[in-house]
Amino acid sequence: MLNETDTLPQGLLDVKAEQLLDLLGSPTLIHLEGENRQPLFISTLLHGNETTGFYAVQQLLQSYANRPLPRSISVFIGNVAAAAVKRRRLDSQPDYNRIWPGSHHADCAETDMMNTVSNIMRTRKPFASIDIHNNTGRNPHYACVNILNAHCLQLAGMFGGTVVYFTSPKGVQSAAFSDFCPSVVLECGQSGEADGITHSRDFIRTVLELDKIPGDQPSHIRLYHTVARVTVPEMYSLDAGGDADLHLSHELENRNFNELSAGSVFAGIGANPGAHLIVTNESNEDVNDEFLEIVDRRIVLKKSVTLSMYTTDERAIRNDCLCYLMERLQIS
Ligand SMILES: [Zn+2]
Repeated sequence: MLNETDTLPQGLLDVKAEQLLDLLGSPTLIHLEGENRQPLFISTLLHGNETTGFYAVQQLLQSYANRPLPRSISVFIGNVAAAAVKRRRLDSQPDYNRIWPGSHHADCAETDMMNTVSNIMRTRKPFASIDIHNNTGRNPHYACVNILNAHCLQLAGMFGGTVVYFTSPKGVQSAAFSDFCPSVVLECGQSGEADGITHSRDFIRTVLELDKIPGDQPSHIRLYHTVARVTVPEMYSLDAGGDADLHLSHELENRNFNELSAGSVFAGIGANPGAHLIVTNESNEDVNDEFLEIVDRRIVLKKSVTLSMYTTDERAIRNDCLCYLMERLQIS
């Protein structure tokens, strides 16, 4: 199911993300030669409704239309079938960013494909790997890393001052590539926002023009560690008022990357008095009691934490999670 090509598919720089299925037919790995042969790997559209990465690459390549690339680029264009219908994934598909080497997902055609892409790139010894995503809710732009080495953190710090370190969920592209090159994930706000496209495009250009990544720890970054993930059991209905089982807070959507103090109200319990959330740590253990308690039919934080990706968008919650809980991390 993987296409691999050494030339730019005709029309690629003019199409919309939802037209890529017609143009390419299936997920496609494109190798373009530049002056420095050690390639920069860029991964886009692992989630079909997160288009920023594709448009950033499109703008970048347009800007090099009449001059050589300073460094070779390998671009992976992922879930074109989901992009055609503006969905994260199709119901029949696994999540394209949970099936890379290291995944807990059962073997299938898609895990084979990601394994193939990883093996192809491992032998090409990439200079760095950049995977580009969007999120729902309101979040600043930030970069994520899966290992705390200086090259990864320097790369992340070139995107901005906010960096998140996570080791769960498993099977993400950036963690797989961290095995053989510095790897980052860019979270570029909501899909379709112009500043996310220009920010990630300019970041790719900076990395493309770089000779080497500094080897010392960056001093300017605020580093967070994802310590838990909050999900909503499927059986409970959701709203922000009304008579659903759980009431979510629109206000918290504006508090991503702000520290919330102990006692902050996290959600309200509605029609079903037994309704609750699930909080799991990076080892998938239930740590609900460590972070949350119920006070007067409200779910309240037991200790101060920082949120990321908090959203009230029900589809995003059902597809992934309600939010992540983070703590500040000091690097010496
Ligand atoms: Zn994503």
